[in-house]
Amino acid sequence: MTAVDLGTPRVPGARDTPSAPRPDNPALIDTFGRVATDLRVSLTDKCNLRCTYCMPAEGLDWMPGEQVLTDDELVRLLRIAVELLGVTDIRLTGGEPLLRPGLENLVARMAQLRPRPRLSMTTNGIGFAKRAAAFAEAGLDRINVSLDSVDRRTFERITRRDRLRHVLDALAAAKDAGLEPVKINAVLIRGVNEHEATALLRFALDNGYHLRFIEQMPLDAQHGWNRAEMITADEILDLLGTEFTLTPSPAKRGGAPAERWLVDGGPGEVGVIGSVTRPFCAACERTRLTADGAIRSCLFSTEETDLRALLRGGGSDEDIANTWRATMWGKLAGHEINEAGFAQPIRPMSAIGG
Ligand code: SAM
Repeated sequence: MTAVDLGTPRVPGARDTPSAPRPDNPALIDTFGRVATDLRVSLTDKCNLRCTYCMPAEGLDWMPGEQVLTDDELVRLLRIAVELLGVTDIRLTGGEPLLRPGLENLVARMAQLRPRPRLSMTTNGIGFAKRAAAFAEAGLDRINVSLDSVDRRTFERITRRDRLRHVLDALAAAKDAGLEPVKINAVLIRGVNEHEATALLRFALDNGYHLRFIEQMPLDAQHGWNRAEMITADEILDLLGTEFTLTPSPAKRGGAPAERWLVDGGPGEVGVIGSVTRPFCAACERTRLTADGAIRSCLFSTEETDLRALLRGGGSDEDIANTWRATMWGKLAGHEINEAGFAQPIRPMSAIGG
């Protein structure tokens, strides 16, 4: 392993604005000693579900096509991220990434990058079943499927679409194609699906999927998030505790968002991502790229840096890399949801990339 100079780590203070000079270091370092190696890439802001906690029934004003990065532009940015900035993991998301035309080809191009990044995708799974083998062939390593209920009516109530079967088929096809571990992301909504928490876990354990519950975050397009309504990590653990015995997993967490628990002594596990009540910002390894080419150092950033203008204006690889480095150097200590005066970012989750 090569030692890198990260500058002098600072004691995190949520409202601290980084001002220290950046040491000469190629990686995506910040002033708190963190190094971003995990890139979340949004491929489109469009989605074919309308989850009530994410966007309104009528959808949103989608980005005009000319604003979205082309495949060539995107691959160039990813090459810079991997070759010059030390990114080792690329997670494709959206919107719904499967809506991006020709995605299998794009994945194949990403798999050609060196050093070869680990490639994963977060998806609602619709239409994935018949494409799973092609994605595995293209070089996708793993998949996270979002599934908030295994009850058809509850699923439809949350997503406003009767598509549960498609998602279940996607999960099975991902497993058959070897895209493992197959992970499930679930959000619990008070009065809607909280009573199904144990059924979801039973379903995941029975099928060998890794389930992670995510606390609902203030990132919905309609700004309807309400702290009192959110089901907290503690509540999730209590709900699961009615049927299962959970003990902390001995596995190392590193920069992973999920706290993991062994279920009934293991080997089955469940994860809880307590983004709001148990923030893990101090270990964050993530950097984000939106479909229209903006870099964000955090899901909750209120500022972002446009790389598309640089790309389209003839910027060199080194110009782009330096702009990306400078953005990450300015990463704040934490997301500030729990601070007085927290302001939700203008872009909703679906346009940032979840
Ligand atoms: N369409 C893809 C999918 O469904 O996985 C990728 C994008 S979606 C925004 C990514 C994840 O964010 C999903 O698991 C979704 O449930 C979650 N999500 C959306 N809005 C959220 C919110 N306000 N709080 C927590 N999770 C949210």
